[in-house]
Amino acid sequence: MTSVKTVLISGAGVAGPTLAYWLARHGFRPTVVEQAQGLRSSGSPVDVRGPAVGVAEAMGIMPMLRAAATDVTALTFVDDNGRRVGGMRLGQTRGEVELPRFDLATILHEAAHEEAEYIFADSIATLAQDDAGVDVTFERAAPRRFDLVVGADGLHSRTRRLVFGDESRFVRHMGVWIATLSVDGLDLAPHEMLMHNAPGRALALHPNRGNPGAAFIFRGPWEPGFNHRDTAEHKRLLTAAYSGGGWRTPEILQRVSATDDLYFDSVSQVRLDRWSAGRVALLGDAASCVSLFGDGSTLAMVGAATLAESLAATPGNLAEALRRYEQTHRTLVAPKQRNVARAASLLVPATRIGITTRNVAARLLSLRGLRTDPSTRPTVPSPRFEESTQRSVVSADDDRAGGASGGQ
Ligand SMILES: Cc1cc2nc3c(=O)[nH]c(=O)nc-3n(C[C@H](O)[C@H](O)[C@H](O)COP(=O)(O)OP(=O)(O)OC[C@H]3O[C@@H](n4cnc5c(N)ncnc54)[C@H](O)[C@@H]3O)c2cc1C
Repeated sequence: MTSVKTVLISGAGVAGPTLAYWLARHGFRPTVVEQAQGLRSSGSPVDVRGPAVGVAEAMGIMPMLRAAATDVTALTFVDDNGRRVGGMRLGQTRGEVELPRFDLATILHEAAHEEAEYIFADSIATLAQDDAGVDVTFERAAPRRFDLVVGADGLHSRTRRLVFGDESRFVRHMGVWIATLSVDGLDLAPHEMLMHNAPGRALALHPNRGNPGAAFIFRGPWEPGFNHRDTAEHKRLLTAAYSGGGWRTPEILQRVSATDDLYFDSVSQVRLDRWSAGRVALLGDAASCVSLFGDGSTLAMVGAATLAESLAATPGNLAEALRRYEQTHRTLVAPKQRNVARAASLLVPATRIGITTRNVAARLLSLRGLRTDPSTRPTVPSPRFEESTQRSVVSADDDRAGGASGGQ
């Protein structure tokens, strides 16, 4: 295959701008097309951790990420009455940072925007590739030809659909649903996230630097005909799942019915045998979504850097570059995809006994002063539900409001 110079990236979320930055730095000419009018705002917290910290440091954006950090240091489990019944310390290590998704996307975009061409409010309409390039038509812009097209357009990737087929073949519902919304004006302690559980359901409140957010996570089977854009249907599903719920559930459900900015989706994994077909490759959630509660932003950033590096390392051999990218990045993705069931059992225990057991385990670990081993640590939620490293468990005895009550 001929060498690659021009690269069209679909999607300006987390993976897309990171790839644009690294491609420009390696001498490629990236163009990013984003269907939204501008950077889409979701204030839900995401984490930059593990190998993504190295990527961010090499981009020189770590000080900006730190300045935007949420600085939440504890997750506290509460019962129906808001009493603390257990929890975990959320200490970040090795420079890791949790920050609102919007800030991460903005900082990544700013790092790349001078070297990359950005087209907002547009989307790929068709793709037709031959040995030498890809002919692209857009919904609005004039048709163009690129050497390579990368789909970084998220869980419901259109690029993937156009080239690999319908998402029902690749997207697996993990038996859990997630919804997030902002809950302005809620009075929350600045460094503590609260979580209430009922069997198969969780409601978390995150202070998010004065822009508090709520997250619902609940177990449920796949809804035939589910449409991730149908907000009215999402509100109906949420209300049905949480009606009669304790703690602050009624109050937050009222916010749900009033909001026009509800993020709601299936906690899904994306699994494909190949992440590329000829001159079209997939990246981030489009290629390998781990689930909406694990490592999406971290893996999106690292995968982008790996893809750019692989393309630069084998000029003139696109097939080899894409093979290298996939081989290298799959070693990070595969173990994360295996962790999802454990994450679900920690965040949304299915039974009341499961909830009590989780809370007791949290207390025991804390009393024994254990810090979680990074390879065995539980996944810890935020409204964005990403894992973080070195989270230790904090005792319910820290609860000045009355200690464990069991049951929640
Ligand atoms: C608006 C939004 C809100 C989110 N909120 C949450 C949340 O609250 N909790 C959570 O767990 N995860 C959330 N996510 C998902 C999370 O951001 C990703 O899992 C993670 O960042 C992986 O990054 P990514 O770049 O692969 O995908 P994403 O961050 O999903 O980025 C994909 C980008 O592609 C764009 N796009 C989609 N289709 C097209 C198209 N046809 N043409 C051009 N561009 C397209 C999207 O607008 C988006 O900017 C959200 C994603 C989005 C887009």
